[in-house]
Amino acid sequence: MPKREYYDAVVIGAGPNGLAAAITLGRRFNAVLLLEAAKTIGGGVRSAALTLPGFVHDVCSTVQPLSLASPFFRQLDLPQYGLEWIQPEIPLAHPFEDGSALFLHRSLEVTADAMGKDGKAYKGLLQPFVDHEKPLLADILKPLHFPENPLLMARFAFHALRSLRNLSETQFQSDRTRALFAGLAAHAMIPLEQTATAAFGVILATLAHTVGWPIIKSGSQKLADALADCFLNGGGEMITGQHIASVTDLPKAASYFFDVTPRQLININGLGLSDGYCKRLARFRYGPGVYKMDWALKEPIPWKADICKKAGTVHLGSSLEEIAASIRDVHMGNVSPSPYVILAQQSLFDPSRAPAGRHTAWAYCHVPHGSAADVSSLIEKKIERYAPGFREVILAKSVLSAAAMEQYNPNYVGGDINGGLQNLSQLYTRPIISLNPYRTSAKNIYLCSSSTPPGGGVHGLCGYYAAKSICKNKSYIKSDSRCYPRGWVSRYRHIIERDDP
Ligand SMILES: Cc1cc2nc3c(=O)[nH]c(=O)nc-3n(C[C@H](O)[C@H](O)[C@H](O)COP(=O)(O)OP(=O)(O)OC[C@H]3O[C@@H](n4cnc5c(N)ncnc54)[C@H](O)[C@@H]3O)c2cc1C
Repeated sequence: MPKREYYDAVVIGAGPNGLAAAITLGRRFNAVLLLEAAKTIGGGVRSAALTLPGFVHDVCSTVQPLSLASPFFRQLDLPQYGLEWIQPEIPLAHPFEDGSALFLHRSLEVTADAMGKDGKAYKGLLQPFVDHEKPLLADILKPLHFPENPLLMARFAFHALRSLRNLSETQFQSDRTRALFAGLAAHAMIPLEQTATAAFGVILATLAHTVGWPIIKSGSQKLADALADCFLNGGGEMITGQHIASVTDLPKAASYFFDVTPRQLININGLGLSDGYCKRLARFRYGPGVYKMDWALKEPIPWKADICKKAGTVHLGSSLEEIAASIRDVHMGNVSPSPYVILAQQSLFDPSRAPAGRHTAWAYCHVPHGSAADVSSLIEKKIERYAPGFREVILAKSVLSAAAMEQYNPNYVGGDINGGLQNLSQLYTRPIISLNPYRTSAKNIYLCSSSTPPGGGVHGLCGYYAAKSICKNKSYIKSDSRCYPRGWVSRYRHIIERDDP
């Protein structure tokens, strides 16, 4: 039961964006309530014993470069709430069937040296972004705006707005380097021939050489727990097991922030959204789903390529053609016979994930939207190509089809893990084209999920910017435990802007 009759703000959904919105609102208002449908908080950053006792698995996100790079999380000092990022020795390995592998090392030089004839081109492409990682991310991980670093952004756009295929085929000579880059861009879950797919490759490679691709000690849940502690420490209130289906489920408040996707928002009764706005939200497009697997292993995965044994993340797809075909199949509504697989092996770097000597592995591949197909044997067959004997080290496994993913978390509509398709036309104009994409047609209702800019991933910035947007039209701001009426807002603008990341 809520403790108060009236709140300054209520946030619905305790995913990373809901938690970020709640923390930001809690800094400005006295009474902020966070409501979560599930029994546990975290949304896409939960961990659970999915297989056997003593094994900790990340149900959704596990590789957390965006959380470490997030300008908002950076200002929260999360380690004081018990959060510890662990850096695998090698952020990413990309093996081939002959037992060789390319990899992303933390060092750009070491990575480029291992690429042979493509090393110079790779270094030339990445160096300017690696050198200016913070200003680059500050401009990219924001709602649409005039860039603060126009020259850097122009350089980024020159490469990023191309399709991955175009960038790879013009920059790199080797099929292996092209496969590595295709694997990075495939995280976008859109066909690699589409405009701007190169952006995902460039950003993920830049992150590997700057903040790394860390995992979180003892599981991603620790990030949700740290964010929740930060919110509660600031005087916030939180209730779990409270699914919101109608305004009648909500306590009275000056404003409401929904960490849900457009389709869910439309289905909540009594919000007072205009018909026109609902029609525009209904046109929001969702992407393909994922099929997720977790394993408890009796020993590490027996990779042919030794470098894979030092990597936190391993991408499985032998060529740009194979990876591109897998994504194309899924977009045409078919299960790929040879899916591109993203795999993480946390326990190699974090012994707290499994009993002594045992190990965990986590993987997913893309499948058609809403698919209930069981592709576990295809994923395991793919791993066997690069790690013969993998099946023999399995003690237990857990699977989640795309359809089951939506049952687990209603934000993963059809198994789409990004809160909606992230193609060029929907990346910054999500959920609709608007000067303030977080505001809805109802005055006091806001969206703050990954269906708003800057989109999917664990960075909390959708929640942060949604909460910040309220300053433009709210009656009160909080400072030094006091509230000031609207007329004071301009005088106290420096307080509002003080924590701008
Ligand atoms: C398998 C998988 C792997 C992923 N891997 C990574 C990764 O490695 N790195 C990365 O950065 N990102 C990854 N992601 C994506 C990342 O998890 C999401 O982008 C992120 O969690 C989105 O945050 P959010 O707060 O917008 O939504 P969510 O995390 O989905 O949280 C939404 C919350 O709202 C609650 N909710 C929904 N409806 C209601 C309601 N009506 N009433 C009350 N509560 C409600 C839900 O229960 C949920 O807790 C992955 C996702 C999945 C599924």
